[in-house]
Amino acid sequence: MLRINELKLPLNHPDHALRDAIVGRLGIDSGDLIDFTVFKRSYDARKKTAIVLIYALDVEVRDEAAVLARLARDPHIVPAPDTGYKFVTAALPAPGTPRPVIVGMGPCGLFVALILAQMGFKPLVLERGKIVRERTVDTFGFWRKRKLNTESNVQFGEGGAGTFSDGKLYSQVKDPKHYGRKVLNEFVKSGAPEEILYVSKPHIGTFRLVKMVEQMRAEILALGGEIRFQTRVEDVLIEGEGNARQVVGVKLHTGETIPTRHLVMAVGHSARDTFEMLYDRGVYVEAKPFSIGFRVEHPQSLIDVCRFGPNAGNEILGAADYKIVHHASNGRSVYSFCMCPGGTVVAASSEEGRVVTNGMSQYSRAERNANSAIVVGITPADYPGHPLAGIAFQRELESRAFVLGGSNYDAPGQLMGDFVRGVPSKEFGSVTPSFKPAVHLTDLAPALPDYATVALREAFVAFDKQIKGYYKDDAVLTGVETRTSSPIRIKRHDDNLQSLNTAGLYPAGEGAGYAGGIMSAAIDGIRVAEAVALAMVG
Ligand code: FAD
Repeated sequence: MLRINELKLPLNHPDHALRDAIVGRLGIDSGDLIDFTVFKRSYDARKKTAIVLIYALDVEVRDEAAVLARLARDPHIVPAPDTGYKFVTAALPAPGTPRPVIVGMGPCGLFVALILAQMGFKPLVLERGKIVRERTVDTFGFWRKRKLNTESNVQFGEGGAGTFSDGKLYSQVKDPKHYGRKVLNEFVKSGAPEEILYVSKPHIGTFRLVKMVEQMRAEILALGGEIRFQTRVEDVLIEGEGNARQVVGVKLHTGETIPTRHLVMAVGHSARDTFEMLYDRGVYVEAKPFSIGFRVEHPQSLIDVCRFGPNAGNEILGAADYKIVHHASNGRSVYSFCMCPGGTVVAASSEEGRVVTNGMSQYSRAERNANSAIVVGITPADYPGHPLAGIAFQRELESRAFVLGGSNYDAPGQLMGDFVRGVPSKEFGSVTPSFKPAVHLTDLAPALPDYATVALREAFVAFDKQIKGYYKDDAVLTGVETRTSSPIRIKRHDDNLQSLNTAGLYPAGEGAGYAGGIMSAAIDGIRVAEAVALAMVG
């Protein structure tokens, strides 16, 4: 199999054009082309009137060696790399070895469990939230009736934080071992659309994610794994001191203890009580940067036209996304984060008396509004003094948002023009906000520290140069966005992926500061599963 990269064709090319282009590019007879598959398809929309599709193709030809030798100087025609996943071990641990225990069943914990189960280990997963169907009822209940279940919500439960999301599956992480391919293949096996294997920015959307999580659960169970829901880990049992600290088990909220010497903590960025417990138990934790800001809603049609011009609405392109950055004059960086085309803004609280926003969509991305977090980067210098000070800072902002929204889980909101001018908003314009239960119009300035407000005001105006029409008087801002990533890092060794000062404890995924998003959390899960497996077989 050989790979052709960077093969470009116009957006609306007929089907046969791809075959013709391959034959032309390789300089072979049509009969010598046996088969081909699209490995990746992206687009270049810099010229809106002449949008180009860019393909990477895996191609089977009659005499591959001769073709490769003839085109040896063409950097875009190479032998197709082997992206298949290979297990690091398949050996079973010695009889009597306690099972590996995984805390959290978000994308990271799910992949730790799946890979360990596929290797023949029989992992035990402990998840504080409910199975995904019951969790859906609680989450939608909160959005409709303002009744928050602090253990079953957007953040907590089977599938983790990204279950009710846009399901974007791309990430910037380096992936030399092609773990991302393994993740996508597992998702497709569990019901994701096949196109996620080849489009450059795959997404799944909420409802499909729910079904996929159920399928993956079924596979883990079929392979001998065990999963306990509504089971919160409240303590970690550690023996020894100094360099000899070793995990020996966990204690559940019921008081039950479970022995293990291989404990994966994949608890996500919202498990604040669990972070506090780990810190109290002396596990090494440090503060890390994250970002704060608002969700912004524009009409999706505005973004589509700006990005795709006359090709707006094209089926292959879908609803347009955007990625924008502004370096404000006060030294702060302002950037778009977790942009959800054709989606909705959602209430993402997991603690009473606090309001947090995030975004989600369905696979069709057919809702009226485009939403994105627009956030300001902050560092531990903004919340100094204690490794967990970032959590206190997040809580403070989320509590302020609760009060500004009317103390009933409505989110505080403001029109973009009013925010920039510094006047409270009184009524909505052409953009109807999607957040449920409701958006309460007010003045958002008190929701964030002054430096963030100043930087955001400057950025909204500046973004208009990057996306014409972005500075829209009646675009709606909803606050606050605080859970952009974990406020802490539970540091681990680079080689064995165990905690810096506690053997047998594997900090993993987003909560530990080693991932940001579904794909990178899942990839980290594979890496951690391999580390656990290798440690268990010695
Ligand atoms: P999580 O998914 O947070 O999972 C952690 C799990 O641990 C949770 O299920 C929790 O209940 C459980 N847990 C916590 N503490 C305990 C305990 N003490 N005992 C037992 N269980 C515990 N990312 C993208 O890449 N694309 C998107 O489109 C996207 N959209 C998002 C939309 C929303 C609304 C949200 C909230 C997030 C979104 N994200 C998205 C981010 C993404 O969901 C996270 O990056 C990802 O889920 C992190 O995976 P994780 O497994 O590390 O942690």
